[in-house]
Amino acid sequence: MNTPRTHDFELGIVIPCYNEEEVLPKLTDALAAFIRSSRYPIRVLFVDDGSRDRTALLLHEACAANPAFAYLSFSRNFGHQTAVSAGLAHIRGDVIGVIDADLQDPLEALAEMVEKWREGFDVVYGVRKNRKEGALLRFAYAAFYRILKKMANIEIPLDSGDFCVMDRRVVDVINAMPEHNRFIRGMRGWAGFRQIGHPYDRSARAAGQTKYNISRLLKLAFDGIISFSTVPLKLASLLGMAAGALGLLYLVYAVAVKIADPTAPIGWASTIAVIIFFGGVQLMVLGIIGEYLGRIFDESKRRPLYLVDRRGGWLDEAPKA
Ligand code: UDP
Ligand code: MG
Repeated sequence: MNTPRTHDFELGIVIPCYNEEEVLPKLTDALAAFIRSSRYPIRVLFVDDGSRDRTALLLHEACAANPAFAYLSFSRNFGHQTAVSAGLAHIRGDVIGVIDADLQDPLEALAEMVEKWREGFDVVYGVRKNRKEGALLRFAYAAFYRILKKMANIEIPLDSGDFCVMDRRVVDVINAMPEHNRFIRGMRGWAGFRQIGHPYDRSARAAGQTKYNISRLLKLAFDGIISFSTVPLKLASLLGMAAGALGLLYLVYAVAVKIADPTAPIGWASTIAVIIFFGGVQLMVLGIIGEYLGRIFDESKRRPLYLVDRRGGWLDEAPKA
């Protein structure tokens, strides 16, 4: 049962930016027009994820020119998910939107998602109707989301990214999660409440290059699986059991051969093959355990998630009571 939200509200928008100087002017223009035409107040928080181009400078200027804008600038590149986390921790507003800097997530879709929030949903996440990537990457994405759905103990919707709007209380839940390996769409799914997908057409990047390469995508995929699932660890015991059963079968076979023909030679090749096979299985299982251990190590250091170098815009104003 959804209770519609009829009260006045403010929309806060979080935008992670990494080396986005090419697209920033387009983005700030589009946002300014969006804010002017909107019936409700909107504020925007840009998070400069340690860009090495003119992103920080452009943000500084944009925030000086528009009172609805603010920015945070990291001391170095901490990664997309960390930038979104920082944005969520500092944004104000009753309903919070997360979009990419490259205008791939259309502002019209964001406005439609806010309407769904007003109908009473707590999380409205964008679901891509189309993907503009090549066939191989599309296949990889589809496979990843389906594997994650099977393995994770929580529901992570297929083909949804970080593009979403969330009610303030969901943002507070995510802000209260201390983990360093942050997989926002997973944490958002974990939170529960009333969630719904909103299909939209994902545009191509408005300008500049993608900031994600294969190794960053793989890290995100591993973070997603390992932070939300212990299935890989269970895989270790399953492999162990399967290997044990195979070994037992082989023993029975060897004894049978020896009884049938006492002069039968013992095979070197098969012995070596078995050793190599189990050596491989053991290393793989150790590797899986290592992935978890490494993340536990990361968490146990309790370092801050990110370091802020500079900030500007409405962030410097005291929040209204
Ligand atoms: N981004 C970031 N830090 C990074 C990499 C990316 O803040 O280390 C931002 C980037 O500026 C963009 C968003 O994350 O706003 C998504 O990145 P991108 O568009 O390059 O990824 P794609 O859409 O190609 O998956
Ligand atoms: Mg993009």
